[in-house]
Parts: sequence; structure tokens; C-alpha cells
Amino acid sequence: MSRPIERPPSESKEGVRVTVRCPECDASLPFESAEAPGAIRCGKCGRGIPLKVSAALQADTAVDVCPVCDGPDFYVRRDFDPRMGLAFVVTGALVSGVFYFFNLDLIAYSVLAAAVLIDLVIYTRLKDITVCYRCHAEFRGSYPRAAGAFDLHTADVLEPEWQRRIGRR
Ligand SMILES: [Zn+2]
Ligand SMILES: [Zn+2]
Repeated sequence: MSRPIERPPSESKEGVRVTVRCPECDASLPFESAEAPGAIRCGKCGRGIPLKVSAALQADTAVDVCPVCDGPDFYVRRDFDPRMGLAFVVTGALVSGVFYFFNLDLIAYSVLAAAVLIDLVIYTRLKDITVCYRCHAEFRGSYPRAAGAFDLHTADVLEPEWQRRIGRR
């Protein structure tokens, strides 16, 4: 029973939030898949990027084909900015260092432990996003995550393919 789920347009107003990477200047360009724009223009460098938003992507039922590069290859990762997590732990370590300096070891360790714990909690509560292997477009929505985890070998094959297509190599 694999009949595609059809939803009336009124229910799928949200769509998938897609973040496209500009091929020219790497700027992050967001758009809503429900609006299915035929193209977007980079606000930074002015480059026009043609888009082909699939019906499934528009309805937030699946990420099947990338609207930017036409590629069907994706991986799933946590929607997490590693720099943010690191900044949090570093701040925790600094605060803890101050307490340590004043011989308040127990408080120092508690602060550090709390920072690490909060970091973990933030990490586990994050949602998964789908990312395109070729052009690094990101897809945030309520569609089921069907892609696998990041595979370095696949990326090594597919990334250069896209880079050649946009004339970066
Ligand atoms: Zn640009
Ligand atoms: Zn792509």
C-alpha cells in the first residue's frame, strides 16, 4: 500500500523550508517549498538560481529531488551548528575556571558538568534535516526522513560533480 498521500493545498501551506547555497558566493538563501518559486535571486551577489520544486517537496511529503541540482541523493543530519555547541562548552569552562581559581572546586565542576549536560540536552532535542550531497541545499519540514546518514565516499563522488557543473573546478 504505497499510494501517495494527497493533501489539499490549504493544509500544506507551510511546506518545506529550503535553504539553498548560492553557487557563486555560498550565501544561504531560504525559501518555502509551498510557494514553489521558479527561481530565486541571491541577495548578496545577484546571481539567479533556477528552481524545480517537485510535487512531493511542495506538499512536504518527501524530499525526492533537489530543486537546485536535480540530484536524488541526500543524507540526514542533526540540525545543529557545532560552533554554537562549542561556544557553550567554552563559556562553561571559563565560568568554571573562575570558581576554580577561588578554590571553589565543587562549584567549578558543577558548572562544567551543567554546561556539558545542557549541551547534550540541546543536541538530543534537535530535529533531523535532509541535506543534498551535491549542492548542500537543506530541507526542514515534517516529511519522513528517508535518507541515510552522511557517507564520505558518496560525498567525494557527488560533490565534485556539482562543482564542475557550476564551474568551480
Ligand atoms: Zn550569491
Ligand atoms: Zn542539490
